[in-house]
Amino acid sequence: MHVPFCPSICPYCDFHVLERRGDLVERYLTRMDQEAEQLAGQYDVQLDTLYLGGGTPSFLRPGEIERLAASLRRHLGWGKLENTLEVNPGTVSPERAAHWRALGFDRASVGVQSLHDPTLKFLGRQHDAQAAGEAVTQLLDAGFRVSGDLITAVEGQPLESDIAGLLALGVEHVSAYTLTIEPGTPFARQGVTVREDDEERGFVQTEALLTAAGFGRYEVSNYARTPQAQSRHNRAYWTGEYFLGLGPGGAGYYPGASGDTGPESGRPFRRTNPHLHGWLAGDSGENDVLAPADVVTDALFMGLRLGDGLHLPTLSQRSGLDVAQRYAGVIAEQVRLGLLEQRGDQLRATPQGWWLLNRVVTAFLDFDEASGAADPADGPHPA
Ligand code: SF4
Repeated sequence: MHVPFCPSICPYCDFHVLERRGDLVERYLTRMDQEAEQLAGQYDVQLDTLYLGGGTPSFLRPGEIERLAASLRRHLGWGKLENTLEVNPGTVSPERAAHWRALGFDRASVGVQSLHDPTLKFLGRQHDAQAAGEAVTQLLDAGFRVSGDLITAVEGQPLESDIAGLLALGVEHVSAYTLTIEPGTPFARQGVTVREDDEERGFVQTEALLTAAGFGRYEVSNYARTPQAQSRHNRAYWTGEYFLGLGPGGAGYYPGASGDTGPESGRPFRRTNPHLHGWLAGDSGENDVLAPADVVTDALFMGLRLGDGLHLPTLSQRSGLDVAQRYAGVIAEQVRLGLLEQRGDQLRATPQGWWLLNRVVTAFLDFDEASGAADPADGPHPA
């Protein structure tokens, strides 16, 4: 569920975000209620997890987030396993944290990013290290499971003390993402670059420090203190579960409707909602129907991010392709290069393969392109 409003726009951000103004929030809440009702009419929804992300959902005022939560509950229900709220440190107070808990959120993903004030300033964040620490403590005191987000690869960032400080606060989960300069962002326009050695140092050092502290790296950028502390919501993306996507710019993954006709009948599809104004006007999103080979490359791209990798027979069943046989040559080559590892039916990336994940997935895409299999009209329908 995407909430696009933020207190200010960070110079590295390429999400669909905007500052609140006029009656936009009011119109957003009305449309969210309609969209939730519409999806409830289309699908038999039983949520395992719910994730209110953005943007900055915690920037919504108490009455606004209450209204949004009520809409979601009324039409779609609430996650049985986990309900996460994405939180910006500058928006937390003990009263707000207690209110969010009372609404039913049980996990908070906090955009700490760093505990080093010059790094936070460089990243254009409005909070400082002290505010980030207080926010995490207040959320833990309110009974949340807390995950801290870190950005790595910033020149001059003291990663060791960032990680030590975050762990000392008591978080059970850390998401560590490399700073990337996306086209069209203020950083890109200013010509900011990320040095490759900072990038590699961040990647390697983060793992060394967090695993030494007893955290398990269960996904390329995610670490959990215990298996129970893993993000159940994000695991669903990585294991190829279907999910709804609400809000402007929201992305969902849906099963094909059995009543459809034509060559795309019954095929799963991804839908990305339009940005705010189109979405408020009721424009429908773009559906990207997945051919069997797309189901495979999508699953590889997501599944190889996981420490335990993916199960080839499950992927064959989902895509309708004999994955082990079809990609035997590609898999053998990536294994020979030391980027993939195959144990029985399980295929996973090596540490080197994680670092070069795009290259690994590109090898599968190149194979599909060469064999012409990416055409949605080709191949059997997914199971
Ligand atoms: S707070 Fe997060 S979503 Fe909002 S502008 Fe900054 S990085 Fe983007």
